[in-house]
Amino acid sequence: MTTYFNYPSPALQEELSKIANAIVAPGKGILAADESTATIGKRFADIGIDNTDENRRLYRQLLFTSDKVVAENISGVILFHETLYQKADDGTPFVELLKQRGIIPGIKVDKGVVPLFGSEDEGTTQGLDDLAQRCAQYKKDGCHFAKWRCVLKIKRNTPSYQAILENANVLARYASICQANRIVPIVEPEVLPDGDHDLDRAQKVTETVLAAVYKALNDHHVFLEGTLLKPNMVTAGQSCTTKYTPNDIAAATVTALNRTVPAAVAGITFLSGGQSEEEASVNLDAINKYKGKKPWPLTFSYGRALQASVLRAWGGKPENVNAAQNELIKRAKANGLAAKGQYQAGSVLGQAADQGLFIKDHNY
Ligand code: 13P
Repeated sequence: MTTYFNYPSPALQEELSKIANAIVAPGKGILAADESTATIGKRFADIGIDNTDENRRLYRQLLFTSDKVVAENISGVILFHETLYQKADDGTPFVELLKQRGIIPGIKVDKGVVPLFGSEDEGTTQGLDDLAQRCAQYKKDGCHFAKWRCVLKIKRNTPSYQAILENANVLARYASICQANRIVPIVEPEVLPDGDHDLDRAQKVTETVLAAVYKALNDHHVFLEGTLLKPNMVTAGQSCTTKYTPNDIAAATVTALNRTVPAAVAGITFLSGGQSEEEASVNLDAINKYKGKKPWPLTFSYGRALQASVLRAWGGKPENVNAAQNELIKRAKANGLAAKGQYQAGSVLGQAADQGLFIKDHNY
């Protein structure tokens, strides 16, 4: 019978819900610091720093030794495998620094995007084969949530049925393997902003993709209360000539989510997707101010939009560490306010707050 299945035990349900709810507590969100070695290399190249193990360690140390006040707005940090096992200058493991601040460590577990043969340049995300063993180990090593990113592209003929179905399914398998290992899955089906499509097309693609994702999660009996969704905000394509207001973006985003994301989902943590730091704060704020049904907390899980000013302020120089940490604290605070619909546009200035962060065909 297709209707015979089990959800996790009550104890596991409670553990997963507790982690997920703590991540999306009011005014808090996630710092995505899980750039792969190649991706952080691109960020370093922008500020003229070599992509060495030591520079990566120094940069992540800067992030994780920020004043404890940062934890008022950052509930979780997503780490890359290498970073999880690195230590501060004084030998304290990074995971320990996060724990001391009351920040929950998370881990990126996907192994990147590979082409879907026969498609028009679409992809799927790999990494399922040894995922159960890796999750079990990561849990022992202090991680309580995970991220897996899938990407979908808007072009004339895409996203295709093949890409939508495949990515939905792989996200569902990933989510169920995480839950089996007591890890909260962040489900990330990112619809990329590349293209000249308008807001309406972005909304319809996002709705179609999310509907497929939740059908697959249901088919795999994923315990939704112990999951988080990390979607794109619904924005027009990067080269669309029509300009939309934050309120237009909020209306399109909240409508798309209401139509497709079950109220049982613990929370929604948006990616920044190439928006500037200020745009990402203003749009999140507009989403939270938007009058409409919003059964889940709506907050941030930003990579670029939390780190652009930090990187600029740091510039690889030890004497700038404090200034860079202040940039992180400021931007986290701005986004914490936005998550409550209390951010005043322009009230938080950063060294790179208005810099566009769009990257063509973005890899993570
Ligand atoms: P951006 O906020 O830079 O889009 O990245 C967030 C993320 O974790 C993408 O997987």
